[in-house]
Amino acid sequence: MKHYPSDLAKFGGEPQFREPLHVGRPNIGDRAALMERIEDILDRRWLTNHGPYVEEFERRIADYVGVKHCIAMCNATIALEIMIRAAGLKGEVIVPSMTFVATAHALQWQEITPVFCDIDPVTCTLDPKRVESMITPRTTGIIGVHLWGRACQIDELTEIAERHHLKLMFDAAHSFGCTYKGQMIGRFGEAEVLSFHATKFLNSLEGGAIVTNNDELAGKARLMQNFGFEDTDSVIYVGTNGKMNEISAAMGITSLESIDEFINKNHENYNLYQQELAGIKGVRLMPYDEREKTNYQYVVLDIDEAAIGLSRDDIKDILHAENVLTRRYFYPGCHRMEPYRSHFPHAGLLLPVTEHISQRVLSMPTGTAVSADDIREVCAIIRLAVDHAAEIADRLKQQTDALVLQ
Ligand SMILES: *Cc1c(COP(=O)(O)O)cnc(C)c1O
Repeated sequence: MKHYPSDLAKFGGEPQFREPLHVGRPNIGDRAALMERIEDILDRRWLTNHGPYVEEFERRIADYVGVKHCIAMCNATIALEIMIRAAGLKGEVIVPSMTFVATAHALQWQEITPVFCDIDPVTCTLDPKRVESMITPRTTGIIGVHLWGRACQIDELTEIAERHHLKLMFDAAHSFGCTYKGQMIGRFGEAEVLSFHATKFLNSLEGGAIVTNNDELAGKARLMQNFGFEDTDSVIYVGTNGKMNEISAAMGITSLESIDEFINKNHENYNLYQQELAGIKGVRLMPYDEREKTNYQYVVLDIDEAAIGLSRDDIKDILHAENVLTRRYFYPGCHRMEPYRSHFPHAGLLLPVTEHISQRVLSMPTGTAVSADDIREVCAIIRLAVDHAAEIADRLKQQTDALVLQ
């Protein structure tokens, strides 16, 4: 246990953790069940092209979400691209900047302009009032992101989309297993996209899916995912290759069989962080709405530099030195990344809440690979840092000055 600033690895102490603690270290389900499925796939020699495991995975996901259609894909980025194309979006589409860059890239990749809209400071998702002010004659749609598993203000966004004849869709990459007003996310808008990337709490190695109740959109997306083939030798749209393979589907099914265990562990971790961080001035966990079901896959700290005297980045640097590889999800915002930064150099002027929040948040390691002792130790380091903030700020300044003098 560390007691003094000089114990911190940042100032020459031994790192608290020999092995790095990652955000999004994969959750692994029942290995024997997975291996059995993989043997079966190899015996059958049906490796991809909508085999029996992909079909089973799609059915199980559709049942879990409670939608008519699930189209499993090689990843969520391709799923977003296909959803956008199948829905016929063009011109401009309103999205948050506070998201993983794939949300914006999926538009830009097909020369649709992502128009970055500010977020609500409480939900950290699209602010419906701001959305309305970003609509132009070129706008064709809105893509909301249920950030950290916390639902967008779907009713308000739906009302705006209807009034302006815009298509509303969602990037639900963070939100499998979460609800909005008691209904599973995945059922809203024209369609929603899920991610099963290795770092998401439920993984298929790589993978994603479009979920929708819209028959026409589902039909188009399914053809577009397979080069536009309607039938052998007959292609009726421009398409791409977005297919999920059988081993990914086997991993996805195996993960689904452990979903309750993964969510329970995430929930326990979240509660433990809450308990261990209690009373630390200026450090707060981003809350979840306890009335909703959620997957608790992100434990996000909100760090108030003015109250602590240390910035979010100071705390991140201190933790990284201890081998706690926290992530700034999402910093600096898509609008400060290329090509958007060059296209819209002044976008930040319209995104004050995004800029404020992205300076304060820090995602913590969680999931089945993180133990209760790990969490206690991580929180003890944060407490030590905050308790000795003035001395640590001095030491950090000395380090920076020394670097400048070198
Ligand atoms: C992970 C993620 C994606 C991309 O998912 P992939 O399956 O890795 O392509 C898209 N949007 C958000 C918000 C994500 O977190």
